[in-house]
Amino acid sequence: MNKLTNKVALVTGGSRGIGAAIARRLAEDGASVAITYARDGAAAAAVVEAIELAGGKALAVQADAADVAAVNRAIEKVVSTLGRLDVLVNNAGTAIPKPFEETTLEEMDRVIDINVRGVFATTHAALKHMNDGGRIVMIGSVVGERAVTPGLVPYAATKAAVKMFTQALSREVGSRGITVNNVQPGPIDTDLNPASGDWAVPQKAATALNRYGRAQEIAAAVSFVASPDASYITGSNLTVDGGMNA
Ligand code: NDP
Repeated sequence: MNKLTNKVALVTGGSRGIGAAIARRLAEDGASVAITYARDGAAAAAVVEAIELAGGKALAVQADAADVAAVNRAIEKVVSTLGRLDVLVNNAGTAIPKPFEETTLEEMDRVIDINVRGVFATTHAALKHMNDGGRIVMIGSVVGERAVTPGLVPYAATKAAVKMFTQALSREVGSRGITVNNVQPGPIDTDLNPASGDWAVPQKAATALNRYGRAQEIAAAVSFVASPDASYITGSNLTVDGGMNA
């Protein structure tokens, strides 16, 4: 028996990067795993195939996190196909790095719609189906607590919102034994934040370990807070940043 045997997990934005690593890790832990994605159906299918090849059960559903009707349909499909819902990982998120004064209102809306409204709406829909003792995990960011760099003003504000959403929600669903936690990554090598290039140099230098993190290192933290071992941890912010915010 693995620690998530007989559990069903949904990872939003699970086709690439951190979300794909989380999906694969939760499947290794024994969960049946559903992922959502916005555009790249081939990447989502590859994650499903990898999980199935390893002996697991997986499902990919297209649902832009900013499209509440699509998110609702995705959750209905997960529950009707996999039978239940025990773990929600709100991973889908985006950044549009540029100086605030050059950022358009449309760009601000997009970041808010995915990173905040999408997280609220997905969690709201998931809670209707989530079993008692469930787990809700947000993927926030170190910049939700400390403004490490210029160029991420709306993004940082959305991740701060995710932090307080986590803490506030934990007060409401604790009576059902549902925990709500926020994993806050530092610089992780993905398409969103590649470890190569000029943008990466100051981020790497700002960490205590002098390196980017790997998506699997975030997945390990999510695996822990999703597990029975973390039953008394709720409303917490778990920073996994190589010491960037130390
Ligand atoms: P990537 O851009 O590498 O991957 C994003 C994933 O989310 C893809 O699977 C993508 O699918 C999906 N996605 C993107 N937009 C949407 C959307 N609107 N609706 C549904 N799915 C979507 O990002 P990361 O893996 O780097 O980031 C994942 C999370 O981690 C985000 O919340 C991010 O803010 C956070 N984070 C990342 C850090 C980093 O350094 N990488 C640091 C701190 C936090 P598709 O290809 O189909 O669009």
